[in-house]
Amino acid sequence: MLLTYIAVFILGSLWGSFSNVCIYRLPESENIVSSRSKCRKCSQKINWYDNIPFISYIILRGKCRNCNFKISFQYFLVELLVAIGFLISFYFFSFTITTLIFFVLTVFFVIIFFIDLKHFIIPNELTFPLMAIGFFKSFDPNLNQYLFPNYINSLIGGISGYLIIWFIIFLYKKIRNKEGMGLGDAKLLSAIGFLFGWISIPFILFFSSFIALSSAIPSLIKKSRTMSSKIPFGPYLILGCVIYLIMFKQIIIFLN
Ligand SMILES: [Zn+2]
Repeated sequence: MLLTYIAVFILGSLWGSFSNVCIYRLPESENIVSSRSKCRKCSQKINWYDNIPFISYIILRGKCRNCNFKISFQYFLVELLVAIGFLISFYFFSFTITTLIFFVLTVFFVIIFFIDLKHFIIPNELTFPLMAIGFFKSFDPNLNQYLFPNYINSLIGGISGYLIIWFIIFLYKKIRNKEGMGLGDAKLLSAIGFLFGWISIPFILFFSSFIALSSAIPSLIKKSRTMSSKIPFGPYLILGCVIYLIMFKQIIIFLN
């Protein structure tokens, strides 16, 4: 059993390594698959043995072998997050389609989280496939019907997720004449609605707004940021969704 967990962890860290590539290349429309990774300073091609998740980062002490340029800790963090996500999914659902869905979700969520945080965008290349997965998985009758509701519930979730954020953007423009959130956020909440059904939407909106507001309050008090500053809302939606999944059992009991 321990060997299986080690294998899952390695699989997760390899996908984490791929997630790093996507985080850096997707916003710049670079090719994800073909070209080999380069140092971001000296452009030296990175050898396979310097590209092993965790191990290379530790051995190289977070520096480029050629020019000593500091490699961002983010590489390590992303690999770790995806590996942990894989472990948790496997722990709860072992060899099932549900685990596979959560593997995919982990990779997409981590990539979206870091891209939106840095660039204030959520690429369609990420949200559209998530919507499709969210909708088509509803036709698998063996999935947990509470966690992954039927296709009607999924469809309503997808549409309402998009419309709610679209409406917030619309109101915000009318009132403040500014853009607060982007349509990328609307597509992300739509994908989440497709995945977990419309029931999940109010909870996830509540959780993510709560985290967003409470993390904005300190900088509002210090006046370093005004209420109209643009915030990347994608990471908060993802955190809200994670909290929803953690509290899922309690929420179902509460609703019944
Ligand atoms: Zn270098």
